[in-house]
Amino acid sequence: MIEHLTIDPGRFNNAAFIKSRLASADAQDAVRTALRFLYFDDGPFNLPDDQRKAAEPYLEPAERLLVGWLAIRTKGLLGNSDGKAEMTAARSARYRCQACGFPDVRVLNLDEVDGSLECLCANCHVIRTRWQRRR
Ligand SMILES: [Zn+2]
Repeated sequence: MIEHLTIDPGRFNNAAFIKSRLASADAQDAVRTALRFLYFDDGPFNLPDDQRKAAEPYLEPAERLLVGWLAIRTKGLLGNSDGKAEMTAARSARYRCQACGFPDVRVLNLDEVDGSLECLCANCHVIRTRWQRRR
């Protein structure tokens, strides 16, 4: 059986959730920043490497995957500017495919469609890229 790595939608904009996570974390500032980066609509748009590394031991597997993926997308390594568009797209999709709702964070992609970004799973990304744009 394949275990999915997913994020509970109840965590978004939930200050009580972050507080509960800080209780058992040593690197509280870094963990708070990482969780606000992941879960708050008004959270930071990028996560500095030192904060990400300090927070990682206290993050869950799905969260570690997300911050690693999003760090690349939001630091300008792929030619983007400040990460705002990428974080807004991924966070507002609640780390689920916007086309089919698939929730496994390992297969998420950010796809540019008509100047805006969409968060899509690998299947929907391939279907859209390979087939729907060819017409
Ligand atoms: Zn999908």
